[in-house]
Amino acid sequence: MGMDIRGSLFTSASDFCPECGCVLPLPGMHDAVICPQCKFAIDVREFEAKRVQSCIIFNKLDALTLHMEVDEGDELKGPLIDRKCSRCGNEGMVYHTRQMRSADEGQTVFYTCTKCRFQEKEDS
Ligand SMILES: [Zn+2]
Ligand SMILES: [Zn+2]
Repeated sequence: MGMDIRGSLFTSASDFCPECGCVLPLPGMHDAVICPQCKFAIDVREFEAKRVQSCIIFNKLDALTLHMEVDEGDELKGPLIDRKCSRCGNEGMVYHTRQMRSADEGQTVFYTCTKCRFQEKEDS
């Protein structure tokens, strides 16, 4: 993802001037929001569009984070095999396979150390 995560969280938390980063006043009766600091003007319609957009990005990120948390819990639910962790030397790793993008690319096997959660992957 090439998107600036910090930037989108920044704009969704509140409305800041894209030029100097200071807090913008509410649109009120005017057609444009003008930054009190640097006098940068943003058209209200553009302003609202930006707001909606950053809100969508924020929700997407939220869903992504949730998905990643679920994934992490599943790592240790697979079958346990006698494999030595190359990081901590613990004998016993859980493995699970994951089908990559297309069927002809084969499976990738992931090994997760039950002790330090180090992950190794092997393409078959
Ligand atoms: Zn400004
Ligand atoms: Zn380990």
